[in-house]
Amino acid sequence: MTERLFHFLWQFGYFSAGPLCTDAGEPVQIIDRGRYNQNEGPDFMEARIRIGPALLAGSVELHLRTSDWDRHKHSADPNYRNVILHVVYEHDRATADPTLPVLELQPHVSTLLLEHYEQLLQQEGFIPCEKEVLLVPALVWTAWKDRLLVERLLEKTARIEKLLAEARNDWEEVFWWMLARNFGMTVNSDAFEEVARTLPATLLLRYRGSIHALEALLLGQANLLHGHLQEDYPLMLQREYRYLQKLHPLTQVHRAVHFLRMRPPAFPTVRLAQLAALWQAQEHLFPRLLEAGDPSEVREWFAVTANDYWHYHYRFDETSAYAPKKPGDAFVESLFLNTLIPVLFAYGHLQGKPELKERALHWMRGLTVEDNKVLRRFAAAGISATGAADGQALLYLEKNYCREKRCLDCAVGCALLKRDVPVAMRT
Ligand code: SF4
Repeated sequence: MTERLFHFLWQFGYFSAGPLCTDAGEPVQIIDRGRYNQNEGPDFMEARIRIGPALLAGSVELHLRTSDWDRHKHSADPNYRNVILHVVYEHDRATADPTLPVLELQPHVSTLLLEHYEQLLQQEGFIPCEKEVLLVPALVWTAWKDRLLVERLLEKTARIEKLLAEARNDWEEVFWWMLARNFGMTVNSDAFEEVARTLPATLLLRYRGSIHALEALLLGQANLLHGHLQEDYPLMLQREYRYLQKLHPLTQVHRAVHFLRMRPPAFPTVRLAQLAALWQAQEHLFPRLLEAGDPSEVREWFAVTANDYWHYHYRFDETSAYAPKKPGDAFVESLFLNTLIPVLFAYGHLQGKPELKERALHWMRGLTVEDNKVLRRFAAAGISATGAADGQALLYLEKNYCREKRCLDCAVGCALLKRDVPVAMRT
């Protein structure tokens, strides 16, 4: 028995309803087990419990053993003055406060449930409940995935809130940082964000009329215009960058971009050239994102092609076969998933605009699911993601709950363990 499991049993009433008695032999009737409190103070607040003839309202404190009350010195702590019942798993000895009624739950707890929970913790599979996931009703899964998706977006919102503090609450700037980060894909995300942080949106907007200036700024700040270049085009960009660097004292970016283990269409040179084309073709994307009614409208923004030089190049000075460099569909989906939808949701959440949150969730539900090893393993266990929303929820579940074995905080875990509590034992 762990403290968290004991809290779980009380929280959901997974113990026999009666007859329950205090250590002094008075009958106990639970009207309301109270609200779970994970902050300072007693474990459950605002409980209502009848002890003998008296109906009491107040807090409930839980411990594995009665003696823990003295060990934690609760009698001297004013936060615990309102405790009406001390619920223990095992009543080992009387406390220093004989007036506080004690209820021992051990005889009322299902041993099946305890064994099952122990098994879950011991499982070594992909996720501890891998062999049992199909025992959980589809409705439970659906509601849980909906909640997980919101949790995941709230987690991203917290990160956006931090960026906003750094950007003096400038949403357009934060949106630019995130978009650039997303263009850097996994390998170059940090470097691209760093580049974006040195090139404010206001500066890039000034050069909207010149694709060469935009490329020079982006590729130059990413350290891709240094050294000995040969072809006329990169040499021209190099000269442009040197001029702009002097004109607008630009902070040097130290982080290097990488080409290794990457498909040529995702090379940082190509992605930065596409970003330059995007800056030239579109302006003020953030306010337009808030107004966009349909994702197809937003998809259009990214139907840009990098400048002509890139039709025959993936890197400077290396000619390749003709291939215009336009962001592919899968890449644009990843922009929706990692930047557009999280920013829309975060804005709705932080500005108190629920309709934007709803729209973000609606857009997420319209995206196709990504191909991912974790999602393939869920599918093999019988839980398939039908779209990106499902996929995001399952990825979040695996990372934040299953890996940490937080089955007691998980709706699937609750549903599985509940099966081990005979109906007659549920309070
Ligand atoms: S956290 Fe939930 S889904 Fe993950 S292993 Fe535990 S019960 Fe299963």
